Amino acid sequence: MSTLKEFNFKNKKALIRVDFNVPLDENLQVTDDTRIQSAKNTIFKVLQDGGSCVLMSHLGRPKSNESEYSLKNIVPAVEDILGVEVLFANDCVGAEAAQMVKALKPGQVLLLENLRYYKEEKEGDTSFAQSLSEHGDIYVNDAFGTAHRAHASTSIIAQFFPKNKCFGFLLEQEIKSIDKVMKSGEKPVLAILGGAKVSSKITIIENILDKVDHLIVGGGMSFTFIKAQGGSIGDSICEDDKMDLALEILKSAKEKNVQLHLPVDVLAADDFSNSANTRVVDITSIPVNWQGLDCGPKTKAIFHEVVQQCKTILWNGPLGVFELDPFSTGTKALGDSISEATKNGAFSLVGGGDSVAAVKQFGFEQKVSYVSTGGGAMLESLEGKILPGIAAITNH
Ligand code: AMP
Repeated sequence: MSTLKEFNFKNKKALIRVDFNVPLDENLQVTDDTRIQSAKNTIFKVLQDGGSCVLMSHLGRPKSNESEYSLKNIVPAVEDILGVEVLFANDCVGAEAAQMVKALKPGQVLLLENLRYYKEEKEGDTSFAQSLSEHGDIYVNDAFGTAHRAHASTSIIAQFFPKNKCFGFLLEQEIKSIDKVMKSGEKPVLAILGGAKVSSKITIIENILDKVDHLIVGGGMSFTFIKAQGGSIGDSICEDDKMDLALEILKSAKEKNVQLHLPVDVLAADDFSNSANTRVVDITSIPVNWQGLDCGPKTKAIFHEVVQQCKTILWNGPLGVFELDPFSTGTKALGDSISEATKNGAFSLVGGGDSVAAVKQFGFEQKVSYVSTGGGAMLESLEGKILPGIAAITNH
């Protein structure tokens, strides 16, 4: 793997693709700066070597050049986090940017305007990528959030740096964490998949069955499996057209010697709301007009035991409707179980969409080994896909 450590940036200009696609409020203030914080180590390494940084990123989904998507809005936040002045170029290509790059001195940081002001970015346009490539001596990709896209700045650009290209520290850590689960994890390996739909996780399940010893299927997804086996699930969420698939997964897990664990009881509700009446029932006999919105106490205990047995743990997707307080306890309990296992030496990776939100909401971030920064990129990695942003650095 070409990593940042292999390069000395003294008197070099590092062209770094970062993921500064941060959320902003109506006053254009950054509301969550995690992604900027995550790029810090890479930027500091270049500056400490005696190099300079040209940072490029996208922000949001601009249709043209709307000012609310200007990266200029985040300059104060980036300056606060880095503790250095951040220069800003009003365009990511063209004469002004070229001039500013040329004038850049060691120790300085320049942020380019939003890449997605140009449709060529998402189209993966080669000549646009070439124009961008002129801004640096060494190309560093540190944007895991867009690594699954073959965009100009994430993938196509790498061809203009046949030797001088590498992963930033964040992307390197993301790749290593995923590899730890998918390739080199200490056994027993456990994957926990929750969330709403089987259909959105099916490719992951199929890929992961070859890699794990245990698979927990929880949350809304589990009802398709329970109904397919003849259980009564009341009004619980279910994909009837995926029941055959669920049976195939159960069969395939057995053939592959993977222990597949489903919930055995649920907290059922008579309404999808905070004020619903609730009761704990067996998952195979949920009354009509009631729906399972969280896992029950027996399930929590069983899942806890499974988690404690395992040395490598991947978690994607909540075990209940964690956004509603009465139905968040299953997800919280799982977070506690994973935290305990991690404390006892297991490696735990949390990634992909809502589980990251849950982990942050309930304060488990520091108690697991690694929380992935990339939703879609993480999910595609778990599906076994080679991400274009990673392949572009790895392939020479
Ligand atoms: P996903 O994006 O597929 O990971 O799904 C996450 C969503 O699944 C969250 O918004 C949860 O509220 C939802 N979810 C989890 N468990 C259930 C359930 N038992 N019934 C309905 N929705 C659920």
